[in-house]
Amino acid sequence: MHPHDQTIFALSSGRLPSAIAIVRLSGSHAGSALRLLAGRLPVPRTATRALLREGGGEAIDDAVVLWFPGPASATGEDVAELHVHGSRAVIAAVFSLLSTMPQMRPAEPGEFTRRAFENGKIDLTEAEGLDDLIHADTDRQRRQALQQLKGLLGDKARSWREQIIEAAALIEAGIDFADEGDVPAELMAPALSRIERLLAEIETVLTAQGRAERLRDGLTVVIAGPPNAGKSTLMNQLARREVAIVSPHAGTTRDVIEVQLDLQGYPVTVIDTAGIRETDDPVEQEGVRRARDRAAQADLVLWLSEDDRADRAEAERRTGVPVWLIRNKIDLPAPQARAAASVQSADRVFAISARTGAGLSELLEALIGFAGDFFGSTESGLITRERQRTLLEETAAALRQSIAAVDLGEELAAEELRIAALALGRLLGRVDIEDVLDVIFREFCIGK
Ligand code: GDP
Repeated sequence: MHPHDQTIFALSSGRLPSAIAIVRLSGSHAGSALRLLAGRLPVPRTATRALLREGGGEAIDDAVVLWFPGPASATGEDVAELHVHGSRAVIAAVFSLLSTMPQMRPAEPGEFTRRAFENGKIDLTEAEGLDDLIHADTDRQRRQALQQLKGLLGDKARSWREQIIEAAALIEAGIDFADEGDVPAELMAPALSRIERLLAEIETVLTAQGRAERLRDGLTVVIAGPPNAGKSTLMNQLARREVAIVSPHAGTTRDVIEVQLDLQGYPVTVIDTAGIRETDDPVEQEGVRRARDRAAQADLVLWLSEDDRADRAEAERRTGVPVWLIRNKIDLPAPQARAAASVQSADRVFAISARTGAGLSELLEALIGFAGDFFGSTESGLITRERQRTLLEETAAALRQSIAAVDLGEELAAEELRIAALALGRLLGRVDIEDVLDVIFREFCIGK
């Protein structure tokens, strides 16, 4: 049986218990299931109150139901929504009833979106945007994801792909007509200028990015420094600030390994290397392992010290990551001045008191500035994932090859264009070379 012959259902709202829970069904049996539960099929796309019953018998819940007949639905299939009271018992009753229906099964993760994609409702970049939007923690992440979901990159990629296919069609038509000879210049010249224009456009998108795709993962800042410098105290200060979203990995009951900050929309994860320690607790081990992995990829090191020494910061610096020297405990009498040379080894110097909080706002301001420079202008960022960047780079490379190949032979140039179109096809999640043929037949009416 084709998997799509099966109708899927899932709890689409959050954790139970909740005021309202939404159960979504998608597939050809969504309508019959809804009719069975609600007693009738409501008017499409209209919220309708209904008493859900077990096969016309005992009432399960007083609900609001929605009916979206395909293909004008989120997945492109028939979709039903049950807005029920969000108790475990109600959901259990609804699920157990749905499970008894033929060709009905619980949905796999992401299966609704997958069906939407397979039915051509959304392209892959939009699916990625949807995923990002659901997981967005900060405002900037949300805006970027929404842009993606609206299909900004997808629309561009589709238009580029069409133009590449047209250029390939121009060249291939020339090859077909030329019979052994060269493709006439009046066919090659427009194709070539079109490719050059496209390449410039794609290159602009690739370079004008900053590191927008990193906005999903956020910026990683590591706090390092000698024992007792005040690293844990600083971490706990940060965790207590309003800007902290969560502090998921607690090392000991007192210490936080990782704090996630929302710095004016920029997601910033701060990791305390002192919290990275050997432990027998498997849950803690996992947290430590993750923190260690992330610390190894730090984008910035805060070297905490009681004085102006940044000697060991040199070691961190070798990795090419910027190091800021944070002189802590300024509430205490200053220790003896150290050699000024060591201060110079840091990119920036701050003075704080992790205990009193003095100097912390300046440090946070500087972090916001750093994050802003790091992510670049994310408002205009079209690329949000490594996958997208790689495929766009492949596209650009193939276009460059194609331009270079023009002198070597039209077939080679056309072949490179096909590779470029393929990369964009993969970006969108659809790959079919048939398109090249379609364009040839449609646009040129070759008549053979
Ligand atoms: P870590 O080993 O780097 O994590 O250092 P801790 O955060 O455990 O701090 C070591 C000691 O220094 C603790 O007794 C803290 O209370 C103290 N401490 C940390 N920051 C400050 C500060 O800004 N001022 C003062 N006076 N003491 C601090």
